[in-house]
Amino acid sequence: MSEPSILITGGAGYIGSHVLKQLAGRGERVVVLDNLSTGFREAVIHGQLVVGDTGDAGLVAELLDRHNVETVMHFAAHTIVPESVRDPLKYYANNTCSTRTLLEQCRRAGVRHFIFSSTAAVYGIPESGEADEETPTSPINPYGTSKLMSEWMLRDLAAASDMTYVALRYFNVAGSDPEGEVGQRTPNATLLIKVAAEAALGKRPRIAIFGTDYPTADGTGVRDYIHVSDLADAHLKALDYLRGGGASQVLNCGYGHGYSVREVLDTVERVHGAPLPIVEEARRAGDPPLLIARAERIRSVLGWEPRHDDLEFIVRTALEWEKKLTTE
Ligand code: UDP
Repeated sequence: MSEPSILITGGAGYIGSHVLKQLAGRGERVVVLDNLSTGFREAVIHGQLVVGDTGDAGLVAELLDRHNVETVMHFAAHTIVPESVRDPLKYYANNTCSTRTLLEQCRRAGVRHFIFSSTAAVYGIPESGEADEETPTSPINPYGTSKLMSEWMLRDLAAASDMTYVALRYFNVAGSDPEGEVGQRTPNATLLIKVAAEAALGKRPRIAIFGTDYPTADGTGVRDYIHVSDLADAHLKALDYLRGGGASQVLNCGYGHGYSVREVLDTVERVHGAPLPIVEEARRAGDPPLLIARAERIRSVLGWEPRHDDLEFIVRTALEWEKKLTTE
């Protein structure tokens, strides 16, 4: 049998490709499964890419066996909140039903560890604007619900088997690989820093601030932005933790403090050195005023320490990547 390896679903996507790079950097054996619906072949800069779906039981079974998969890192998902509101069944099919298929095959093949991309969207709109892992989950859109249902399947499967897992609840992931090898390619992006970088480079005519009348210091929404390389590192720490016999965990992944939309846009203007074409619009439906991680647990359990807790750095790497994309 071949050496144990790691299956990375969605490894051709934004976050998966950053994790793939770090895993390869320390010599892990990896295989990527991605249907390229939103991922890009060019993002798989290491290991083998298998083009296919996580909901394809036969393909998944074959991959788990052929590559002697010990750990699955599951990134493959649809992630656009407004789209999930318009087309909920698409989200339940891919994010929930396909995860169930994947888990069924993991169980059959005796996969030992599972690392899952979850989201702060499972909290909905927490009263204080801050959420720790004990904050009641109450998603307000199908995206959040589809991810929460997968968390529950994982919890129940882990209780009924030897598999252990870490579910990481991501807050606002942003920025790109500081070495510029991988980045965020998503077309029609909706995430603030990506949209702002596109607007700075003239790829969009304007950027809208969605809501200036929130009960926050400057009236705009506040979020906990985390650099994608720090988030990727949390996955490697989760892997080491599970391999070391750690018990299953659900962990917030954020820095524990936030920035407003205006602060983000001011930073983009400063780093880019030119004003942005900003317009003010009404609030976007379903946006909480404030969403900040309480993230002590991930530090104590995984020993994770962020290295890029710096909005300027996040914005600079996003802008550099966006420039690189224009010259491709
Ligand atoms: N936002 C904005 N303009 C945009 C995109 C986002 O004002 O073009 C705001 C949004 O209302 C929220 C924050 O930026 O307050 C972060 O939104 P994003 O979509 O990046 O992530 P979310 O927090 O919704 O997951």
